[in-house]
Amino acid sequence: MNLLLLEQQHFIDEWHAELDQRQLRHVLDVHQASEGDVLRVGLVNGNMGTGKITHLSSEIMRLEVKLNTPPPPALPLTVLLALPRPKMLKRSLQHLTALGVKKIILMNSYRVEKSFWQSPWLSPGKVREQLILGLEQARDTIMPEVILEKRFKPFVEDRLPTLVAGKLGLVAHPVGGKSCPHQISDPAVLAIGPEGGFIDYEVDKLEQAGFHRIHLGPRILRVETAVTAIVSKLYD
Ligand code: SAM
Repeated sequence: MNLLLLEQQHFIDEWHAELDQRQLRHVLDVHQASEGDVLRVGLVNGNMGTGKITHLSSEIMRLEVKLNTPPPPALPLTVLLALPRPKMLKRSLQHLTALGVKKIILMNSYRVEKSFWQSPWLSPGKVREQLILGLEQARDTIMPEVILEKRFKPFVEDRLPTLVAGKLGLVAHPVGGKSCPHQISDPAVLAIGPEGGFIDYEVDKLEQAGFHRIHLGPRILRVETAVTAIVSKLYD
């Protein structure tokens, strides 16, 4: 945790906050902090700054908070991720958040196992936990938006063309297409396939919606590796 992320409910008045148990444990166990220490803090969807520990016990930590630094700029990128298995979903949400992606669409695809949509890790509370971990890792405060699209065809035909209008649409697919562009600054929408990859029909539908195939060379990467590699290459 490189930033203690506070929410409005942590504040007891304008300048003072009390931590929740998860953060308290981390500060005690990992930072081994003591009274008088100054920690980096941020307010969800607000500024970042410092928190001076004014009271510390095994039960409670109180901070005097000053928030005067804006969070880092967001990436102008929307990621469409074919819903991965829960373990990979958690890591992908954390990585994407840490990289600065602010809109993540979890979508269906032929090779997404139906049971993945029943995962408790898709509940808003569990998704938020992963986003907070990503923000705390990267020192950011702006919470990404996560949207679930459980039906591929209506999403790609009805909503995707509007979403990609005026942006660069890219579908990551190991076969065909061009090498992944790098150092772009334009807004883009990137589609990443499931563990078994997109089927031809899905790549065709994405191309009809205005997407271009891109690849990262002959190595087939795990979803979370591919997404991190492509985002880093695009916005190096
Ligand atoms: N056998 C699958 C295929 O050929 O599509 C492999 C799928 S890969 C594990 C999961 C996703 O990561 C792919 O659908 C693609 O979006 C992305 N990916 C992985 N390696 C890639 C590469 N070398 N180039 C482009 N995309 C890649």
